[in-house]
Amino acid sequence: MAAKRASCMLFRAAVQQQQKWAANSPSRNAGSSRSLIFQQQTSSFRNESFNSQRFFSSDSGTGKSYKIVGVLYKGREYAADNPKFLGCVENALGLREWLESLGHQYIVTDDKDGPDCELEKHINDMDILITTPFHPAYLTAERINKAKNLKLALTAGVGSDHINLPAAGSAGITVAEVTGSNITSVAEDELMRILILVRNFLPAWEQISNGEWDIAAAASRSSDLRDKVVATVGAGRIGRELLKRLKPFDCKQLLYWDRLSIGEENERETGATQETDLEALLAKSDIVALNIPLTEKTRKMFDKTLLSKFKKGAYLINNARGALVDEVAVKEACESGQLGGYSGDVWNQQPPSADHPWRHMPRHAMTPHLSGTTIDAQLRYSAGVKEMLDQFFKGEPFPEANVIVKGGRTAAQYQ
Ligand code: NAD
Repeated sequence: MAAKRASCMLFRAAVQQQQKWAANSPSRNAGSSRSLIFQQQTSSFRNESFNSQRFFSSDSGTGKSYKIVGVLYKGREYAADNPKFLGCVENALGLREWLESLGHQYIVTDDKDGPDCELEKHINDMDILITTPFHPAYLTAERINKAKNLKLALTAGVGSDHINLPAAGSAGITVAEVTGSNITSVAEDELMRILILVRNFLPAWEQISNGEWDIAAAASRSSDLRDKVVATVGAGRIGRELLKRLKPFDCKQLLYWDRLSIGEENERETGATQETDLEALLAKSDIVALNIPLTEKTRKMFDKTLLSKFKKGAYLINNARGALVDEVAVKEACESGQLGGYSGDVWNQQPPSADHPWRHMPRHAMTPHLSGTTIDAQLRYSAGVKEMLDQFFKGEPFPEANVIVKGGRTAAQYQ
């Protein structure tokens, strides 16, 4: 009973946080030029042929019982340690009690890969799939073809590139994510990675852990962030949050490259300037952070040729998606010194193999995919998923900025 009460209180707190986040979300900040750009982005959908029978508004709001499958990472012993740790299998985004009280079936698993995995057992008859970028269940065209009942694919977090969006569109599946839910978490993490690389922190930490003391070895590659040129490739929600956080560091120049301008007001607020020529931006930047989505246009965009345009010894930060870069070209650039270091939490296959080259290449500061799944982010994206499920059950529309595919059309940022 006490556990039940605690879980309800926790969820209420999460919803309040979600409401607070929603009120502060840049996309909902009416009046700013950025919000207008995002409204244009999300309202200019691409038309595709789709199976209208599965389009969710025709099947929701009926009070029927749904089979909902969630794919999350396992929390193991850590799940019980922290009841706010909602993003794991055991704590199931805090949704189990609520969904079951409404008569829905809710299956949560981490077993997502291969023909005999738990997810495959439910593909044929699930109505709703909840996935997360941190432990991505790849919703391929083949799986979509088998998932004849699937109406809704919700991403608990931001980034739905693990879903074949054109195939989802053609099948009449709605795809939505909790836009903006972890932008602070990722931007803070990127700032940390910039400092870790620029200050040469990890090799210095390793010395101490290994019982060594060699100031020269560490100091010879350690710099200030002040007076450096820092750029973000992509100045959407996360890119702009990063620029805001960089402003007090008195960098020489803050630059951004994006197909859209962030507008004069945001440029004033962040102190950043747009550079429309990507190669020119790379040539003058000491530090570059990637903050664009993974699409067919951006996949492997940072290949050997583009990496050769960087200023020699520049640092590259990538918390956006691993597949934005050519895996081998990054490793070789770190080995040759073309890159002074590479840091990120995203990999082109997650989890990566035990012998993935990025685990052992020089000057890396790689981690598992965690920047967008802090406890605070989990509370926000869990509440966002709950809000959208509730809207789906009631036949109400989702917040426009959350919609990635609907009615066979794909949101502009994924085109
Ligand atoms: P966003 O939609 O607010 O911003 C994306 C920006 O990229 C937009 O300004 C858009 O104009 C620009 N863009 C898109 N395609 C482009 C192209 N081809 N050329 C130039 N510009 C292009 O998204 P966001 O919230 O800032 O998130 C960005 C990405 O970060 C997500 O797509 C996701 O992949 C990643 N992400 C990672 C984590 C994590 O935990 N590591 C968490 C959240 C998001």
